[in-house]
Amino acid sequence: AKQEGRNGYRFFTAEMQHQSARILQLESALRQALDRHELHLCFQPQVSIDGRRLVGAEALLRWTHPQLGVISPAEFIPVAEGSGQILQVGEWVLRSAARQMKQWLEQGYPPAMTMAVNLSLAQFRHPGLVELVVDVLQETGLPAHCLELELTESVAMHDPAAAIAVVRRLRALGVLLSIDDFGTGYSSLSYLKQFEVHKLKIDQSFVQHINQDGHDQSIVRAILGMASSLGMLTIAEGVETAAQRDELERLGCDEVQGYLYSKPLPAAEFEAFARRHLQQ
Ligand code: C2E
Ligand code: CA
Ligand code: CA
Ligand code: CA
Repeated sequence: AKQEGRNGYRFFTAEMQHQSARILQLESALRQALDRHELHLCFQPQVSIDGRRLVGAEALLRWTHPQLGVISPAEFIPVAEGSGQILQVGEWVLRSAARQMKQWLEQGYPPAMTMAVNLSLAQFRHPGLVELVVDVLQETGLPAHCLELELTESVAMHDPAAAIAVVRRLRALGVLLSIDDFGTGYSSLSYLKQFEVHKLKIDQSFVQHINQDGHDQSIVRAILGMASSLGMLTIAEGVETAAQRDELERLGCDEVQGYLYSKPLPAAEFEAFARRHLQQ
């Protein structure tokens, strides 16, 4: 057992070394990614629960490195958060998404359509955030009500009092706010009420088994009930099947996002999706 333990220990450190080498590699590659135009955005359609209206897009970051290939945001966003690079990357995302949405508005996309952008904790806590948003709206000419900022439940609840103050200042600009991955963190309901965000995004982990798991169904029902009593809209993420959509509709969810309608798409393909969808 002792021998095994030693091997186990050696294996563990080798694994950790491997991981930290990968993190350093990504950090240094990320430093050049913006300048070398290796980053781009994909846009995932958000659709009304009846499937009839395109109501928005979520901007999702993509990175293709010439040698390392496609790197998932689930891997590199945490690295960028750890190194502080997320501030620069996040600013690029915000500017690019706003510019794209402004272009789509000019092309006659539904004016009620919103562009949702993810914010990391470091961005959200940065004292320059409100100014940055003002700046981006001014520079791009995008109306504030077309921009939606997503903060995860854990970002919102990290320091709720401070977060509520920032959310108020952002709301005063006219931008929309949503709480992402809702249900996975530990929201205090009294804080949630004070946030006065526009929308709750129900995490995909509750959607996945909604047709089989009565427990998940109850959680979603409770979230929807709470959102409705607080006057918030709801969107379910990760909707892959018509059966999931039907159940969400029965429970009273407002909007859906997921592979059932579309995966995240490069801008040109999103435009094709929108044209098809607008014709119906
Ligand atoms: P998220 O914000 O919760 O985004 C939803 C994720 O679910 C996306 O993964 C999306 O591609 C995926 N997804 C959408 N529909 C379905 C579905 O029907 N089934 C399944 N299984 N998955 C679906 P993605 O694009 O890999 O992004 C992962 C995470 O990386 C995001 O989770 C977000 O936390 C982070 N991220 C991505 N782009 C940005 C960004 O620009 N800024 C920040 N701060 N974080 C970002
Ligand atoms: Ca999100
Ligand atoms: Ca999410
Ligand atoms: Ca997530």
